[in-house]
Amino acid sequence: MSYRQARYDEPLIFELIGENDFCLMSEDEVNVPESMRRETLCLPDLSEREVVRHYVNLSQMNFGVDNGIYPLGSCTMKYNPKYADLLSSLPTVRSVHPCQDEDSLQGALQLMFELEKCLCAISGMDAVTLQPAAGAHGEFTGMLLTKAYHSANNQQRDEVIVPDSAHGTNPASAAMAGYTVVEVPSGPDGCVDLEALKASLSERTAAVMVTNPNTLGLFEKDIGTLAEMVHEAGALLYYDGANLNAIMGMTTPGMMDFDIVHFNLHKTFATPHGGGGPGAGPVGVRKFLEPFLPVPRIVSEEGKYALEFDRIDSIGKVRSLYGNFAVLVRAYAYILAKGGDGLKEVSQKAVLNSNYLKSRVAGTYEMPFAELRKHEFVISARRLAKEKGIHATDIAKALLDRGFMAPTIYFPSLVEEALMIEPTETESKETLDKYAQALLDIANGDPEDIKSAPHNTAVGRVDEVYAAKELILSWRIYQRKNGKGSL
Ligand SMILES: *Cc1c(COP(=O)(O)O)cnc(C)c1O
Repeated sequence: MSYRQARYDEPLIFELIGENDFCLMSEDEVNVPESMRRETLCLPDLSEREVVRHYVNLSQMNFGVDNGIYPLGSCTMKYNPKYADLLSSLPTVRSVHPCQDEDSLQGALQLMFELEKCLCAISGMDAVTLQPAAGAHGEFTGMLLTKAYHSANNQQRDEVIVPDSAHGTNPASAAMAGYTVVEVPSGPDGCVDLEALKASLSERTAAVMVTNPNTLGLFEKDIGTLAEMVHEAGALLYYDGANLNAIMGMTTPGMMDFDIVHFNLHKTFATPHGGGGPGAGPVGVRKFLEPFLPVPRIVSEEGKYALEFDRIDSIGKVRSLYGNFAVLVRAYAYILAKGGDGLKEVSQKAVLNSNYLKSRVAGTYEMPFAELRKHEFVISARRLAKEKGIHATDIAKALLDRGFMAPTIYFPSLVEEALMIEPTETESKETLDKYAQALLDIANGDPEDIKSAPHNTAVGRVDEVYAAKELILSWRIYQRKNGKGSL
């Protein structure tokens, strides 16, 4: 099979200085004031044409869902339809300011109010706040709600239980909220070990955080029993909603007896994400937790929408103003465009695609735990590592050579040499077949070639340890490190 390859090695814009042959007019000729000259502002002396080509070339070195399949497990990198972008960039959306008078914000408030209702229906919760800016921020908000709830009931609970398959943000959020994190192991079936959970639950447990389906792509089949155990201990059950793309219209966290849920609107509801944002991590709760939700709450009375700040039990604000509005608009547009049946189809297809791709590679790669997965699956390169010295990281790099984005690797940490693949519902069978073929080619390929991959990308293997220890994040730092000037 031949792969589409592009190789660009665009230098930094500052390194282009000197190649300039096309300046229409010098700054002297147009009398640019001293303070605005390129030299003063440290701007490279380049023509418009050179600047345009530089940035277009840079964009060609990038890879995203608009280029091809991006099956990064847990991240739900689906194709984001352009109508959602278009609607969120309408002048009426872009120019609205959160400090405007409420009367002039009625449309925006109505949209947010309606979105809260949609998210309630999708999750089976009773109330939603749209404030948190990302999933992890939603988790942190959930932990603050947990704290407020227990303290309102005069309970001193200082532990939060997290399974070993959880995303790293779960223990981090609990710790940031001041809780001690207790890890419970997974059983031989890849689900939470109920015996171990039982042993960890006590009057100190404030909450248990569960992802379902979990990060192995397995549905926690004993979730009913698990919820009962947690509630019997007087703790709250928190739902990490990053994997909502697997269950919409099939079941809800509410039906599974969860008390608090976060949504990753940027994952499930089609906002382009990656590189740190933008995102939105609304949080849904059951009725008894509603008084603690952040202020302001959006309320509606006689057809008029208002922001209510005066709520005595509220945990307060978790961010400035009301949320990432442009992301909320995209999510609302996407939910309305899909409708209930459409969202159900999204999840069914995400699960089907995942299981199809899995079945194509399961014979060649090891499949820890049960075969049937939800919207993502985890394979292991352990055998390949032992027999041919090909590790998960080599496979990831070799996929880049073949024009594909790598999956998530070395997560969840309970699987050795893990590759975590989430194809999402927006990929065609043809694309899945090509991806599967690439994975099979790599497993059967020349080990030396795979271990030295990538060969076809602009940047080869980077020294990750050096990169993490020496933070050279800009051209100026780079210059300084190399003893060039005092910029
Ligand atoms: C992405 C993810 C999170 C964190 O969400 P962000 O929106 O990236 O902050 C938490 N848990 C799981 C399982 C995830 O995949």
